[in-house]
Amino acid sequence: MNSLTIALSKGRIFDETLPLLAAAGIEPAENPEQSRKLIIGTNHANIRLVIVRATDVPTYVQYGAADFGIAGKDVLTEHGGSGLYQPLDLQIARCRMMVAVRKGFDYAAASQPGCRLRVATKYPDIAAEHFADKGVHVDLIKLYGSMELAPLVGLSDAIVDLVSTGNTLKANDLEAVEHIADISSRLVVNKAALKLKYAAIQPIIDAFARVVNADKAA
Ligand code: AMP
Repeated sequence: MNSLTIALSKGRIFDETLPLLAAAGIEPAENPEQSRKLIIGTNHANIRLVIVRATDVPTYVQYGAADFGIAGKDVLTEHGGSGLYQPLDLQIARCRMMVAVRKGFDYAAASQPGCRLRVATKYPDIAAEHFADKGVHVDLIKLYGSMELAPLVGLSDAIVDLVSTGNTLKANDLEAVEHIADISSRLVVNKAALKLKYAAIQPIIDAFARVVNADKAA
């Protein structure tokens, strides 16, 4: 029987993936939040989970170190998606990619075509494309976390970040001023693995698809 390696990140994606795995009859042996193990077994001797940073999931799958994984559209857009088959929008970890500024900042005036804006983000490709479409020049400042701090201390005029409930923006006196894209997590499969391990992988994709379609119908 083919062995299968599934790449997942901790937190929101892992939690929301559990019901999908359960529908495919897969149960993790441990909770990665309570374990320092990076490789977690399942109730199937031939199926294991590797716990990686969300931004690294496409890379593990691209190189075949994992057969498939689950990654946010934000991460996939920045990665470029090369070598990956993306058969299914799982509709989990849903949020929005937004531009946000300090309350009171005149974004409408500052983002006229021809203006120059300093933008801090973890998503430079997405931000660059968005502002290029608007004809706004941007100085992009790459950050790896807590983008919300940047406009508060004068590092940037605006941020491009994910917004879910909006509570983080609110708590930091920021406001969303532009919607860039709706984001959700996708199944990503290594193209070669899908061919070579089709009999093992396709039933799992089908089980995930049944859950997604049932949720849509509900
Ligand atoms: P919220 O306060 O619920 O709007 O969440 C905003 C914070 O959570 C920001 O720091 C975002 O970067 C992060 N965030 C929100 N949704 C997601 C998601 N689906 N995946 C990863 N990070 C997220």
